[in-house]
Amino acid sequence: MRTEPRPTDLIARRVCVFCGIPRKMSEEHIISDWISQSVIKKTGKSSHHHNAKFDLPHIERLTKTRQGDLANRRFKVVCEICNNGWMSKVETSAQPVLTKLILGEKHFINQGEQEKISTWATLKTMVLHATKSGASAINRKQYESFFSSPAPLQNSNIFIGSYSEDDWRSHKIITHINARIGPSGKAEKNYPINTQSTSICVGKFYVYIFSSSIDKSNFSFTNRLRMRLKPIWPITRINLQWPIRMGVTATEVEQSSFMLSTIA
Ligand SMILES: [Zn+2]
Repeated sequence: MRTEPRPTDLIARRVCVFCGIPRKMSEEHIISDWISQSVIKKTGKSSHHHNAKFDLPHIERLTKTRQGDLANRRFKVVCEICNNGWMSKVETSAQPVLTKLILGEKHFINQGEQEKISTWATLKTMVLHATKSGASAINRKQYESFFSSPAPLQNSNIFIGSYSEDDWRSHKIITHINARIGPSGKAEKNYPINTQSTSICVGKFYVYIFSSSIDKSNFSFTNRLRMRLKPIWPITRINLQWPIRMGVTATEVEQSSFMLSTIA
């Protein structure tokens, strides 16, 4: 079996997960400073984070870490050149539409914007995934490919929802789940980590990113959540009205964030 270096092996050597070059690394938040500083008004406590028990053996979760929750943690997995160069462009390009979404302003999200949001969300997912030791749902080739041409991953489904709770101005929450899914579609402990889900909720904007290295895998929500979480990748509609008429509650954000765990 061919063994390719996983993104996490590169971190140990202080090599950028995207360009693969050993260079000065930069520290960054998943929720960038422009969002925290200029969009979300500071209202005392900066985030609410949950402590849900999660003891299914084949799925790992990463909402809480030693140094506080993911939303406030800094990550050191990319070099300064990438961070200040093409990564900054991905961020800047999504910024106008993301600002509207985070603030819950009325807007029709067109296809170009759906792609920009999806690419931004994929970038955040890849940075998060690279920090988890042994994680291989997104392989080295996909990091290289994203570096040369940023775009949503293959076998990826991305959904957005309008967060409807009153605490939205101070709301920041990130969940990252890795799963080992076998051929039956159920979790299998002997399989490598091959599937991940990432959820980012900031202000009134909630995005859920599913991806898998299993060919042709596909993810969708059922019932109540399907009416609240709308697919933006693969792109299926020309314009998506924002805010989405049926918003998501904090409970629904949590339910959907951990949806991958119900496969087990
Ligand atoms: Zn780099």
